[in-house]
Amino acid sequence: MKQVLFLSGKGGTGKTTLAAAFAVLSGKTVIADCDVDAANLHLLLDPDIVDSGEFQGAKEAVRDPFLCVQCGRCREVCRFAAISDAFAIDPYLCEGCGACVTICPAQAIALEPQLSGHWFVAKTAWGPLASAELLPGAETSGKLVSQVKRTMTHVAPSAAWAILDGAPGTGCPVIASVSGVDAVILVTEPTQSGLHDLERILGVVSHFGLPAYLVLNKADLCPDVAETVETFAEDKHVPFLGRIPYDVTVTTCMSAGRSVVLEDRSPAGMAIVEIYKRFMEVARDR
Ligand code: SF4
Ligand code: SF4
Repeated sequence: MKQVLFLSGKGGTGKTTLAAAFAVLSGKTVIADCDVDAANLHLLLDPDIVDSGEFQGAKEAVRDPFLCVQCGRCREVCRFAAISDAFAIDPYLCEGCGACVTICPAQAIALEPQLSGHWFVAKTAWGPLASAELLPGAETSGKLVSQVKRTMTHVAPSAAWAILDGAPGTGCPVIASVSGVDAVILVTEPTQSGLHDLERILGVVSHFGLPAYLVLNKADLCPDVAETVETFAEDKHVPFLGRIPYDVTVTTCMSAGRSVVLEDRSPAGMAIVEIYKRFMEVARDR
């Protein structure tokens, strides 16, 4: 299975639009939404959920008041001030470090797994879709992304291609999503912040030694900066896959819950088809 991951240094660049379009164009693949904080790939692929489950990624200390002899040692060692004067443990402050478990002379505290989110498998016309949702306040996004990737390979072990939509930014979910991928397609737009965030995400991808490709979305909105972005890609030896023009059809398709490449004569859709062909050519040569 060859894995292609779509990333952008910031949100709103069109990364999910492009990932959904690649899934549609590839016809039969497996798809993963690795943005567990704000999954939205499903909005463009009309999925039917066929399986789901709980994800327990974090552990929290739980005290048994019947065993506790109120010696106070747990409170002394907790660096996160999670234990009150009455030795109650605040689940929002507990980081699950386990220091209190180790120090407790009465074995009154244990670390217990906590519900951090849910994972889903859905059926789409273009292949199975693995995704997940992290619960508000939960901090195990990287582990949940790894769970999504395991689910992806489990539901379609013989798929030739996997299309992965990554999280925006350069944080934990992004780092978890790059593991095991064969290529990264970076999506940016012609703005100074787009260029700045492209530099940051390219730094992450380069750090892991992954081949990166670039797509410039809404390219006609600022031709000068578009040139600067392309020159930057050339200087960094990042193959440029193409420009997507600003096209209001992208927005109307999003509202309708379908990929823009399914629209006849959409300028953005036609550009994406050419980008897809170009990528498949270079990917075949690798
Ligand atoms: S260390 Fe154990 S026995 Fe002592 S106060 Fe904490 S929970 Fe109770
Ligand atoms: S597990 Fe660590 S953070 Fe949580 S209450 Fe115990 S010492 Fe504090």
